[in-house]
Amino acid sequence: MTTTSHSTAVVEQVNDTVHRIELPLPFDDLHIVNAYAILGDTGATLVDPGWSSPESEQTLLRALDSLGVGRGDVRRTLVTHAHPDHFTLAVAWQRDHGIPIHLGAHEAPSVLAFDPRCTRFPRQAELLERAGAPALAAVIRELPLEDYEAAMAFAAPHVWLADREAIDCDGEILVAVATPGHTRGHVVFHQNSTGAFFTGDHVLPRITPSIGLELVPEELPLGHYLGSLELLLTMDDGPMLSAHGPVTSSVHDRVRELLAHHQDRFATITELRASGLTTAYEIARAMTWTRHERALADLNHVHQMTAVVEVLAHLDFLDSGQ
Ligand SMILES: [Zn+2]
Repeated sequence: MTTTSHSTAVVEQVNDTVHRIELPLPFDDLHIVNAYAILGDTGATLVDPGWSSPESEQTLLRALDSLGVGRGDVRRTLVTHAHPDHFTLAVAWQRDHGIPIHLGAHEAPSVLAFDPRCTRFPRQAELLERAGAPALAAVIRELPLEDYEAAMAFAAPHVWLADREAIDCDGEILVAVATPGHTRGHVVFHQNSTGAFFTGDHVLPRITPSIGLELVPEELPLGHYLGSLELLLTMDDGPMLSAHGPVTSSVHDRVRELLAHHQDRFATITELRASGLTTAYEIARAMTWTRHERALADLNHVHQMTAVVEVLAHLDFLDSGQ
């Protein structure tokens, strides 16, 4: 692998046809999203081309230029899921340059529900009330969209991908594998020629992905997420090309770590429940969070929300008897 830096654009060759490109994000806690360029015989394909901002777009164009690719050579974008750090530049390029987006069909409810006048987490506020956290729910319910979110043009993709749909990327075949959980329509793209997995946010090397954090979450997202982890173990192992962090050689190794993490969570939650705590909020307050083992009250409101919603998802899963 070779890594080169072109002013601000970091570009890493991953295999014969794929390059990883680091793009900037406007978040405090997550600074980079990986886009991947697949160079085919007659054109290029981008996986998760990042955030729609002038800075990100310029970085991407510079990186592509270093690979001998102009925007006019980009035939399509493949998007793992509809979170803005993966989806929004693709939306802008589809609208302004006619470059068609391919997105998992089950992202439709959340994509079509997007309205720039809505609040950030309407359904999560409902979940927090059910989790016994009415004060946190009240804070979350009032959170407006960030300016950068309200300005996003969410739009339907040119192609809604079915599970196992193959996409001919100018000679490179990628197969969309439905992996619901992080979002209900998340897909992992599997490269036929190399066995590499473009895992999006389904499997990340350092972070435990959030579950069901979307405008219209599904029932029992954790059950689907764990099923989507097990699914990857039924396929041959291959390199992991995720949306955040470095490329690694084995997706199976990280899937096993994430499954073990959730087993630990189930054990802790079951124990706390047996000790007399009943609501997801009470249980979340008795646990520690992030790799720095912080107390719930020390997290910001959005991170408190994701923690409590995660405990609620574990409780729902336990109660469903799956
Ligand atoms: Zn995401």
